Amino acid sequence: SSPSDPRPDDAPASAALLARARAVTPGGVNSPVRAFRSVGGTPRFMVSGRGPYLTDADGREYVDLVGSWGPMILGHAHPAVLDAVHEAASRGTSFGTPSENEVLLAEEIVARVEPVQQVRLVSSGTEATMSAIRLARGFTGRPLVVKFAGHYHGHVDSLLVAAGSGVATLALPDSSGVPAQMAAETVVLPYNDVAALEAAFAARGDQIACVITEAAAGNMGAVPPDPGFTAALRRVTAEHGALLVSDEVMTGFRCSPAGWWGHERAGVDPDLMTFGKVMGGGFPAAAFGGRCDVMALLAPDGPVYQAGTLSGNPVATAAGYTTLRHCDDAVYARLAEVSRALGDAAAEALSAAGVPHRVQRVSSMFSVFFRDGEVRDYDDARDQDTAAFGRFFHAMLDAGVYLPPSAYECWFVSAAHDDTAVQRVLDALPAAARAAAG
Ligand code: PLP
Repeated sequence: SSPSDPRPDDAPASAALLARARAVTPGGVNSPVRAFRSVGGTPRFMVSGRGPYLTDADGREYVDLVGSWGPMILGHAHPAVLDAVHEAASRGTSFGTPSENEVLLAEEIVARVEPVQQVRLVSSGTEATMSAIRLARGFTGRPLVVKFAGHYHGHVDSLLVAAGSGVATLALPDSSGVPAQMAAETVVLPYNDVAALEAAFAARGDQIACVITEAAAGNMGAVPPDPGFTAALRRVTAEHGALLVSDEVMTGFRCSPAGWWGHERAGVDPDLMTFGKVMGGGFPAAAFGGRCDVMALLAPDGPVYQAGTLSGNPVATAAGYTTLRHCDDAVYARLAEVSRALGDAAAEALSAAGVPHRVQRVSSMFSVFFRDGEVRDYDDARDQDTAAFGRFFHAMLDAGVYLPPSAYECWFVSAAHDDTAVQRVLDALPAAARAAAG
């Protein structure tokens, strides 16, 4: 059967909603990886979330290992976040003026992430990377951007080249609609390859505005930078007067209180950083920030234009600030514990079933590759048995565990994943591993 065949276990209420959605929305979804294209079957329409659980339109409950693709670090409907949202919303939902909540969130980010002296708030990770790149080009007066194959930085035109996440899931080389001239401004290099980096800079270093990198890759599965790779990025960019932009939209405030930067502690300070997901607490809030002398170029102080009707929205910033304030040591300890337990158990179940696999970690983010051997770059990540993943995914779904519907995504845990939720996942793994074996 092809992945798009209907499955006997498909949920009727979700199927009915999907039919309505398809009539009015392309593919029935507002973001492509939600569509289950690579695993087949009917995407579940969720109606509620609480703690580590989601409930779908058919009334089935799942242990959620997607966490809205990263933001839900405290679990769904966290009482303190809900209180903050209610309190903020009761005073009005958008002013189009500055407000104190924006200052609180910006202060919190600047206090945690040392290389960030100033931030500008935006509404999505895509806006954050798009704006950071414009700023890097404005600061250097150079056109080119270096990115790494398999890294995803949102759907910015010039960054949709050899991108991870949904682009990888749908097996698209690049997106249609990105003009060749625009793609030509992007230099794509293999990840974790210092020689390729040095060669690119030797050839065109005086044209390169910045290198943008996921601080640690999470959009082709979890692929950490090799020891010394981030330091090499810093050295080479500095030698050539280019900026280093570290994209922490996924890793930020998840891998440690100060994100991957805080986790790695390699002494490597990027010039600019981008954030999203956790810092929005489940609302549209994101940010880019960095060195004061670079940020000074932004309008209204400087000539690089950047703006947003809903930027720094008072409800979103209240949710984000409250989420960050609740991310204490106990939260990070629980994330580490749960991800260790789940990753180890997945490896054990797949080993017992004889399924080739590799579990990789980026702090408390982790992913399961359906192949043997270390994954260091996008070529490695693409060399997986995605059909085995599809069988595994559906067996887990049938058992009430909601995994990312793609072999290229990290599994996201939250501090709300208690022992009961963890046990439900552990109980589901052996049969799913046998299903993956085919
Ligand atoms: N950068 C990274 C590293 C991401 O993981 C993502 C989203 O998955 C983005 C940027 C884009 O963020 P958004 O989906 O909020 O536009």
